[in-house]
Amino acid sequence: MRRALRTGLAVSLLAGCIVPGEGSLARFEFTESHMGTPCRVVFYAAGPGEAERARRAAFAELAAVDERMSDYREDSEISRLSRRSGVGPVPVSEPLFEVLSAARKFSELSGGAFDVTVGPLVELWRKARREGRLPPPEAVREALERTGWTKLVLDPAARTVCLERAGMKLDVGGIAKGYACDRALAALARLGIRRAMVDTGGGMALGDPPPDRTGWRIQVADQSSKVLVLARRGVATSGDWERYVEIDGVRYSHIVDPATGVGLTNRILVTVVAPDGMSADALSTALSVLGPERGLRLAEDLPGVEAWMRWRENGAIRTAQTSGFAALLEP
Ligand code: AMP
Ligand code: MG
Repeated sequence: MRRALRTGLAVSLLAGCIVPGEGSLARFEFTESHMGTPCRVVFYAAGPGEAERARRAAFAELAAVDERMSDYREDSEISRLSRRSGVGPVPVSEPLFEVLSAARKFSELSGGAFDVTVGPLVELWRKARREGRLPPPEAVREALERTGWTKLVLDPAARTVCLERAGMKLDVGGIAKGYACDRALAALARLGIRRAMVDTGGGMALGDPPPDRTGWRIQVADQSSKVLVLARRGVATSGDWERYVEIDGVRYSHIVDPATGVGLTNRILVTVVAPDGMSADALSTALSVLGPERGLRLAEDLPGVEAWMRWRENGAIRTAQTSGFAALLEP
């Protein structure tokens, strides 16, 4: 995750409406930069005072996750943990343990396609992007030795994390935004604001729907006319359409295949709907790596999960989706 810009820009749109049992509710929308990306919070509240408290609570959660889990920050808890790789179990905070536990679960489910130990590889590909040059194969081989989710050992009783090899580096960029959405949505719910959604760009968490609606209207993916109508779920979009490097006519994504150490080249775009934001986020990254066949099979197997994909195959653009996806779309 990149450093927060903290512009603190706030916009509020008032559109009062009476909801039986909930009184008069107005729609509020705020945008702030966190985790290196514009983050949007939309909710329905009784008035500006309540909305302001809610705004502060929601963005405070996003800021806290960024501060703890950004690998761009030298002093974040996750950076400090990575620096202690190879030295044995290290006690960590509850939020970090929660994210790393979920990450391990998605590593297992995806057969290692999702892997938060890809830090050394991501570093290589960030450098490739800066220099416009492929990483040397021996550098990829060396980074692969410091990568692997089975080298991430968690002890729930002691709440410790052990990175078994020296030089390992954690990167929760594929899961933490979804987690941050869930945390912000929960903070709003604690204030009694349940008709809410949090969008951290790619990852979203949706609470109860706007008044008079069955769900929040969410665009499936870039340039798609498909609109999802969702409530009380997470949704996330991943792919190589945004951050990538092109070298010798090949586009390498910021998502790395942990099996090869190479950035994805299949021009895949994935939207995942899941029971919560963190699961949607992790799965959208996992499915990008797994590709259409294995990815959609995994999504079909998981309860409450649906997915849509677009990718390039032999020069043609193809799309596919899980069997329950169409039912979530606006008619
Ligand atoms: P997302 O946009 O959610 O797909 O996350 C992409 C980010 O996840 C990248 O920028 C990396 O920080 C990280 N990442 C890259 N490859 C992987 C992978 N195979 N598994 C987990 N995280 C990854
Ligand atoms: Mg993700």
